[in-house]
Amino acid sequence: MTKINLQTLTIKKAHQYLVSGDFSARDLARAYLDNINPDLNAYIEIFDDVLEQADIADKKIKDGTATLLTGIPIAIKNNILIKGKRTTAGSKILENYRAVYDATVIKKLKEAGAVFTGGTNMDEFAMGSSTENSAFGVTKNPYDLTRVPGGSSGGSAVVVAAQMALAALGTDTGGSIRQPASFCGVVGLKPTYGVVSRYGAIAMGSSLDQIGSFGKTTEDAQILFDYIKGEDKMDSTTIPDEIYKKTQKNVKEKITIGIPRHFLKEGLDEDVLANFEGSLEKLKGAGYEIREIELPNIKYALAVYYILMPAEASTNLARYDGMRYGYLRGGENLLEDYKRTKGSGFGKEVRRRIMLGTYILSAGYYDAYYNKAAALREIIKDDFKKVFENVDAIITPTAPTPAFKIGEKANAPLQMYLADIFTVSSNVVGVPAMSVPAGWTEKNGKKLPVGLQIMAPRMQEEILFRIGKDFEVPLLTI
Ligand code: GLN
Repeated sequence: MTKINLQTLTIKKAHQYLVSGDFSARDLARAYLDNINPDLNAYIEIFDDVLEQADIADKKIKDGTATLLTGIPIAIKNNILIKGKRTTAGSKILENYRAVYDATVIKKLKEAGAVFTGGTNMDEFAMGSSTENSAFGVTKNPYDLTRVPGGSSGGSAVVVAAQMALAALGTDTGGSIRQPASFCGVVGLKPTYGVVSRYGAIAMGSSLDQIGSFGKTTEDAQILFDYIKGEDKMDSTTIPDEIYKKTQKNVKEKITIGIPRHFLKEGLDEDVLANFEGSLEKLKGAGYEIREIELPNIKYALAVYYILMPAEASTNLARYDGMRYGYLRGGENLLEDYKRTKGSGFGKEVRRRIMLGTYILSAGYYDAYYNKAAALREIIKDDFKKVFENVDAIITPTAPTPAFKIGEKANAPLQMYLADIFTVSSNVVGVPAMSVPAGWTEKNGKKLPVGLQIMAPRMQEEILFRIGKDFEVPLLTI
C-alpha cells in the first residue's frame, strides 16, 4: 500500500489513488480516524460505522461505479441530518436526538459514495462566532490551542485543517462557514441562497441559511459544492435547475474586482489590513483589475442581520417545546414544562436571541424593527446589484481579526457580533461568497491564518472558483 500523506491529499488525488488501488477506502478512512486529535474537540460524535461505509465504497470502486467522492471521508456539521445518527445542533436540548431522515445534501453525498466520518462541533443552533456556545465544550484552534477556531462551524473547519477528514459540510447564516475557514487556513464556501437545498438542515434564520463546503483547496470546496447543489422539491426556495443553468456563462478572461475601501476602517486589525493590501498586489500581479467601489448602505448590514436573524430564529426554535423532540423537563402544567425544558435545554446565547426575536416580532415593534430591517435589506440588495453592473466580484478581508483567544469575547456579545461585519452582507443579499487562505499573521509568537473573502453575483460561483484558484496559497493546513 502507498503511504498516505494526509497533508497533501486532495479529493482528486485521493480518488486517483483509490481507483488505481494504491490504497483502499478502508485504509483511507482508517488513516483519518487514527489522526483524530481529541484535544481539539472538533467532533461531537465520531460515527461507529465509518469502516463499514468505507467497505461499501471499496465495493463500488471494484465494480467500476465509483464517482469522484466514492470513499472520500467527509465530516458533517452536527446540524445536518443523517438518518439514524445523533444530530445535536450543539445543543443540550437535542443531545439524544437521532435523525429520522437524511438531509437532501446527505442523500446526494451517499449516492456518490462518500464516507461520513462524524458530526462536527458547533455553536449551539449555529449561533456564534467561536464554537464557545457549544453544549459539548469549545473546539480549539489547531494553530494555537488557546484560541478559538471561529464559528459556528468551528469543528468542520478544524477537521479539515488538522487532517481529521478530507473535506466537510457546514452551514452559513451570517459567516459561519467563511469566518472559521479564515481562522483555520482552509477554504469555505457559502453558495448563493437557493442553490443548495436546506431540507434536513436544522434551521436558524431561514431566509439567510445555506449549506456549504469546506476543503483544503478551492477545487475541493468546488467539487463538494457540485455534488450537493440543485433544485429540490423538498425545499421550495431552491432555484429551478433550468434557471440556474441559463445563468451560467463562461467566466471572462479579464476579471474586474471591486473593493469597498470606505468600509475597511473600523475595528480592522492592522496585520489583517496589511495582509489585505498584499492580496490586492498579488491579484493585480495575476492580471486582475482592481477598482474602488461604493456600497453606501453596507454599514447597516450587520444591524439588519441582527434583527432579521433573531426574528427568524425565534420562530424556528419554537418547535423545541419538549413534546416532539427528546429533551423534556416536565413540571406541574404545560407552561411549567415549557419553562423548565427551554430554560435548562437552551444555552444563554440561544435564549438571548429567542427573547430578542420575540420582542422584534411583537405587536407594536414589528413595524419599527422587523419591517424596517426588511426594507433596508432591499436597499442593500440594490447597492450590490448596481455595483455588480461594473465589477465581476467584490473582495474584503473575511474577518476583521485573526483567531481570538478563548474567553476573550465570550461575555461581550456585541464584540462577538462584530466578528461578522464582513460576512453577513452576502447572506442578507443572497449572493455567493467564499473565504480562501491569504497568508499569515503572527500573534504572541504564533502564526495564525488570515482569509480573503470573495463575493460574486447570484449564481456566479464559478467566478469565486476562478479567483480562488488563481489566488490561494496551496495547502496551508497543518
Ligand atoms: N456568527 C454569526 C451569528 O452568530 C453567524 C452564524 C452563522 O452563520 N450561523 O449569528
